[in-house]
Amino acid sequence: MSATEALHSRQTLRAQAREFAGDVLSRVREVTDPLPTAIERYRATRPFYEQMVEAGFLRRLVPQALGGDGTGASATAALAEELVAGDPSVALNLFSTGLGLTPLLRAGNPAQHAAFLPPFLAMSGTPIASLALTEPGGTANLDEPDTSTGERLGLQTTARRHGDGWLVDGEKQWVSHAAGWDGTGPDLMIVVCRAGDDPDPRNSLAALILPAPIEGLTITDVLDPLGHRAHLLPRFTLTASPVPDANVLGEVGDGLRIVNTAFGGALIGACAAGVMRSAFDVALRFARTDRRGGRVPVIEHQGVGFLLADVKTRIEAVRALTQRACAALDAGSPGAEELSVHAKIFGSETAVQSLIDLMRVVGVESYGHHLPLAGLVQDVLAYPLFSGGNIGFRRRRLQALLADPGYDPWCTMADL
Ligand SMILES: Cc1cc2nc3c(=O)[nH]c(=O)nc-3n(C[C@H](O)[C@H](O)[C@H](O)COP(=O)(O)OP(=O)(O)OC[C@H]3O[C@@H](n4cnc5c(N)ncnc54)[C@H](O)[C@@H]3O)c2cc1C
Repeated sequence: MSATEALHSRQTLRAQAREFAGDVLSRVREVTDPLPTAIERYRATRPFYEQMVEAGFLRRLVPQALGGDGTGASATAALAEELVAGDPSVALNLFSTGLGLTPLLRAGNPAQHAAFLPPFLAMSGTPIASLALTEPGGTANLDEPDTSTGERLGLQTTARRHGDGWLVDGEKQWVSHAAGWDGTGPDLMIVVCRAGDDPDPRNSLAALILPAPIEGLTITDVLDPLGHRAHLLPRFTLTASPVPDANVLGEVGDGLRIVNTAFGGALIGACAAGVMRSAFDVALRFARTDRRGGRVPVIEHQGVGFLLADVKTRIEAVRALTQRACAALDAGSPGAEELSVHAKIFGSETAVQSLIDLMRVVGVESYGHHLPLAGLVQDVLAYPLFSGGNIGFRRRRLQALLADPGYDPWCTMADL
């Protein structure tokens, strides 16, 4: 596809997603907010999820080379920004399936693609996938190599050899879609665990495919998150869950590489732009129309106008950085990974600060749930923490890149 064709295709997708967000996703909160439990709210999003599948958005997360309609990171980022601007929870439901599929897309072999991708390529139904990494005892140190004390550090979920395959035991939590729509598990789960006896996780981390029905899966709890109130984050155990050798992604020992490529940094930059945008629209409308009993609309007070101007600058900066990262990813440029991490860290932290500033523009009315700002702040607080926490994962990754003697700081300019 030429650059002009790619731009046209992305603009068409963005317009389709924006229209969908306005027509369909704008109704999510009125359906889900009154429901008392996380499980009920999550299940109420299923018809919205189905409409996203029917609109072809799930197929957009699978590359064309593997039978989907995905055309790269830049198009996915445009889709994410528009859907998140419509509703962050339901958009996260879609992109969590994307996260669950990414290890399969990137590290799967042709037989695995043929066996497990077809349900996710149909433009009907509500197929969901999970990436099960996070554990109650911590996840950031999943690659901890120190075995000198004899204590098993890092991930605690294990796979032990059994016949021509593995049996998985362990506990995971904060895993999107892990309960499935009905509590019996997702259509597909990729579990990251330590396989075999090698105590060094760099040799033993593995990503294993567990298709439905997942034997040995017990949902033990659902967490009560601050935001994304219509998204479900279960805790669960796996007990002697069988996995044949054919369902190992890559090789045992590839787990760390697979995890690092699965968490999409640039995608979070796009989500950050989407949340900031919808909050900005609310605050701008308020500032231009409401006088709060004074003579002029509040935007005419310089302190208010300047704050809005600063937030607008930040939105454009986050989107531009995200687009830079996506363009580098699509071009396979050497600076792509670093730019993605910058987009994740800068986008997520800028979004948190900007949401709080937009609440300051609106004042006390922003503090109630009759305006969307309070809910959006709750949602955006997840961004620095998830998809690889900004400290435990992302800044550590930048630090490691910078410390590498072969690192070229300006490889990020390769495609400029
Ligand atoms: C809405 C939402 C959806 C999610 N979906 C999923 C999902 O689908 N699948 C999934 O597996 N997970 C999911 N998660 C979990 C998420 O991805 C976590 O961010 C991630 O697993 C790592 O958590 P953490 O960085 O807090 O690690 P932890 O190990 O819990 O570390 C906690 C903190 O300790 C400090 N720390 C620990 N070790 C170090 C170190 N070596 N150096 C520096 N600081 C350190 C850091 O300050 C870090 O923030 C989700 C979370 C949320 C909120």
